[in-house]
Amino acid sequence: MPAEEASAAIVLRARDYSESDRIVTLLTRDFGKLGGIAKGAKASRRRFERKLEPFSHAMLYFRRRPHGQLVFITRAEASAELRPFNIDDDLGKIALGSYMLELTEALTSEGAEAGGAYRVLEEALWTVSERGAGLALRQGFELKFLRWAGFGLEFARCRQCAAATAEDAPAYFIVSRGGIVCARCRPGVPEGALRLEGQSAVSLARLAELSLADAHDTRPAGADAALAISRFLSSVLDRRLRSAAFVDSVLPGGSRA
Ligand SMILES: [Zn+2]
Repeated sequence: MPAEEASAAIVLRARDYSESDRIVTLLTRDFGKLGGIAKGAKASRRRFERKLEPFSHAMLYFRRRPHGQLVFITRAEASAELRPFNIDDDLGKIALGSYMLELTEALTSEGAEAGGAYRVLEEALWTVSERGAGLALRQGFELKFLRWAGFGLEFARCRQCAAATAEDAPAYFIVSRGGIVCARCRPGVPEGALRLEGQSAVSLARLAELSLADAHDTRPAGADAALAISRFLSSVLDRRLRSAAFVDSVLPGGSRA
């Protein structure tokens, strides 16, 4: 039998399977994204009680199988080192938290290292849990997670001439370049662009550098900025996130691309 392995993990998605089992998707700290099955999860409260629900943050114990994609989850336990997330006491927290889980699932792949993604998601859910939902927190999370995934969006300076973004001059976001060009460079760039107020571009550049707790306390970038991020996400994801419309409706100022 394969050895038992263990890692801190956050449950991204869970559903009942057959009479008594549960199938879950998890982001683990040490092994990236994993799909697993917990046999007898509904009957065995001792091994799993309430640890295999979305937003659960637990120590996961599992065995890999010689064949098949799902690992066997043997237990899931609370740990004093793992901060529990209190998400389900507020609609805004549920909406933003669900969106964070779904975006994480969409931007990670099984078998790939994702320790950085785990750290961003953990900090994000902790901030939602303790401070509540907010648009600036959403934007900070999107920028940080995209950066982890290799899409570091540039709002601080022009992709073409490197001129610093100014609050009083518009900037032009180009999806295929993952960043902005300035008004002077815009005429020489053939791609379509989304016009951003200078203030929005400056806000996004700032949000990308702040901790998520500090981002929470910052004024969010405007609706034009939210639309730019949303357009970029659509270009890199192969499907629309179900939770995006939900979070847009609950946190006003979100984009509707
Ligand atoms: Zn320029």
